[in-house]
Amino acid sequence: MEAVNGKFVAVALPYGQGALAPVISEQTLQFHYGKHLQAYIDNLNAALPGSGFEGQSLENIVKTAEGGIFNNAGQVLNHSLYFTQFRAWPSGPGISEQALTDNRPSGALAAAINEAFGSFEAFKEQFQQKGVTLFGSGWVWLSADKAGKLAVTQEANAGNPIRSGRTPLLTFDVWEHAYYLDYQNRRAAHLAALWPIIDWSVVAARYEGR
Ligand code: MN
Repeated sequence: MEAVNGKFVAVALPYGQGALAPVISEQTLQFHYGKHLQAYIDNLNAALPGSGFEGQSLENIVKTAEGGIFNNAGQVLNHSLYFTQFRAWPSGPGISEQALTDNRPSGALAAAINEAFGSFEAFKEQFQQKGVTLFGSGWVWLSADKAGKLAVTQEANAGNPIRSGRTPLLTFDVWEHAYYLDYQNRRAAHLAALWPIIDWSVVAARYEGR
């Protein structure tokens, strides 16, 4: 992600702000995308002049910055990956068992998931569990190394596995602002509901592009 005329801008959403409901409500999108992400972008843009990071890609800033520049750049990158990994809610107003199990990766990404975790179901369980047990605010990530080997990691605050030389593929935001309006304190219920709206073609493209 490159700055335009020295300023980073919010990534375009590939769906309408109400399209992820009932998993993520339009109101949550309005605050999370429209207010929280925008604040990180504004803070980053304000901090860049004179910092030595002007003109660098967002990924390079996240890999090497520390302190406030890292915190805001990390949150811009994390939210950009997060918001573009979803697709419109695919079925009726309720969240059925069928919807929760039907949406899954295919091809090389599915094979890598099976190799690393045993099965897609085992991967989902580990990913959710690491999201539920992350203490405080942060992100749970699926990432790949250069050879394509997958891992699930917990990252506190603005952390991203790109700092460890890995390619970030899929992430769940476990900051309370991601779910509090819709789920209050029920983080586990929020994470369990996200699977039908994952756009696995986006995740697979990240995996192929590592
Ligand atoms: Mn967030």
